[in-house]
Amino acid sequence: MSPVPPSASPDQPAPLADDGPTCGDAAERGPRWYELDAHDRLTAVDPAWDEFALANDGAQAKSARVLGRPLREFLTDDATLMFVDALLQATRLTRRPRTVSYRCDGPGQMRRFLMTATPLDDGRVRVDHELQCSEARAPAPRYRFAPAATWWRCSQCLAVREPGMPWIPADLLPPHMLALSEREVRYGVCGDCLCQSGGKVRAG
Ligand SMILES: [Zn+2]
Repeated sequence: MSPVPPSASPDQPAPLADDGPTCGDAAERGPRWYELDAHDRLTAVDPAWDEFALANDGAQAKSARVLGRPLREFLTDDATLMFVDALLQATRLTRRPRTVSYRCDGPGQMRRFLMTATPLDDGRVRVDHELQCSEARAPAPRYRFAPAATWWRCSQCLAVREPGMPWIPADLLPPHMLALSEREVRYGVCGDCLCQSGGKVRAG
């Protein structure tokens, strides 16, 4: 997932990218919020949206091209769609802001964000993305989204899983994974992140 409608997720972000959750440096200065109607269609976006989209070769992602479209069109996989849907529905049902954390790394840079869904009138929801921390990290493989890839990558925490193996946290990848310059992956949501789907009530 990424600071902007997901992909602004993977290898992205133009405000709405569709290549999975690795963010370029611009992720730290990109748009920070959008609003959805009761049917999860984008109805308003951060004023910085268009500037960000154009600066990242995302003319197709300019606000005029995304407003009115359902958020699901910008999510890369069913698991992520269900994860985000659980958060939005929990927000509407409880009528309280709910928050989840996620990673959206850039080359050599770890970034952790909070995504907060806040209920508005008439079933609308505002979604804010807040950078929590950003730290330099050793270079990791470049991950490229491929629908038929055998490796999985969690769209929320960036853990990686080889066929038949458990999920490995993004910061604990073994040498044979770190040695790769590029790896094709498909995106999903790992078990730990599934447990936080629906989010936590935002304190304060
Ligand atoms: Zn995860």
